[in-house]
Amino acid sequence: MKGLAMLKIGEIGWIEKERPACGPRDAIVRPLALAPCTSDVHTVWEGAIGERRNLILGHEALGIVDEVGDEVKDFKPGDRVIVPAITPDWETEAAQRGFPSQTGGPLGGWKFSNTKDGVFAEYFHVNLADYNLAHLPEGMSLEAGVMLPDMLSTGFMGAENARIGFGSTVAVLGIGPVGLSAVAGARLRGAGRIFAVGTRPAAVKVAKEYGATDIISYREGSTVDQILDKTGGAGVDAVIVAGGGPEVMMDAINVAKPGSVISNINYFGSGIGDQDIIPLPRVGWGYGMADKNIVTGLCPGGRVRMERLADVVMCGRMDPSLMATHVFKGFDRLKDALLLMKEKPRDLIKPVVIVEE
Ligand code: NDP
Ligand code: ZN
Repeated sequence: MKGLAMLKIGEIGWIEKERPACGPRDAIVRPLALAPCTSDVHTVWEGAIGERRNLILGHEALGIVDEVGDEVKDFKPGDRVIVPAITPDWETEAAQRGFPSQTGGPLGGWKFSNTKDGVFAEYFHVNLADYNLAHLPEGMSLEAGVMLPDMLSTGFMGAENARIGFGSTVAVLGIGPVGLSAVAGARLRGAGRIFAVGTRPAAVKVAKEYGATDIISYREGSTVDQILDKTGGAGVDAVIVAGGGPEVMMDAINVAKPGSVISNINYFGSGIGDQDIIPLPRVGWGYGMADKNIVTGLCPGGRVRMERLADVVMCGRMDPSLMATHVFKGFDRLKDALLLMKEKPRDLIKPVVIVEE
């Protein structure tokens, strides 16, 4: 079978591999719709998680089940499915403690395009099919559905971890597709004022649609000064970090009120200087004592999460397809889509590849 792979750090290309084998509780799926992620860009072009040779990329997919193992109960060949980006081992200790994305060590639930071949292939393997696949609802568009496995799941987690309550003032730093999903998540959780920080015009438009009340350009002055100015010096109850380099954590902490949560969902692909540091502001952090709480998380995966996100969309609470700014048709266009994600033109939010209608 054919797949789009990371050949080594800095290089991608099409390769041929054996179709994966199916275990008794697993499924083999072929893609219906795929989307490249900024994480693929960090992984390949920044070498963020280290060297990977001939590893098939991609972790955002809708698919059609091709084969299931003998012990799989709820899925059969031909079923149209949502495939979560994160596919935990649900019987592990970390999962039982409530951290399924971290099974088998930090980030261990992230298998596709990290520790095994990803979904940018003619066929891919899904562990524990009954736990890690969800049925694609009848009537959900592929452009909307393909945002669930990672964008909605991660962005909404950003809002959940930020402990947003009714009327909370929230700042979302970064409004790519992850930050935009966080804006939508913040609104759904009852936020009052939502500051959305970013500049790409397409994203600014969708941010307003998803509930942002104030748009802040980090290019036109300090993010912190602009938000403090608009809040009478008070700052915000919750910060969701969804873009920028390591220095963005300085802004996040400096704009947060005491008692707030700084919810990081950013993937820091590289650090500052030789020692790879993510800096915190000593004074802004109250010398380490200001009750400014940093929380981090990897995208939640699994079946129930996907079913719940699907309900959010099918009940009309938000429309994720607004983020699909560039739609490619055909598996062969995958490389173009990934290169576009790397290039990040000003009119881009998220490229999507429709493999089969
Ligand atoms: P994008 O590159 O599309 O968006 C990044 C956003 O950050 C843009 O809006 C950009 O602004 C903005 N930005 C850049 N610099 C700053 C700054 N200094 N201050 C504030 N905002 C800034 O990324 P994605 O939305 O696709 O992904 C966001 C991050 O989430 C990535 O690191 C990705 O790898 C990570 N991720 C994490 C996951 C997890 O499980 N935790 C899962 C999936 C993704 P502009 O409008 O000017 O471009
Ligand atoms: Zn992703």
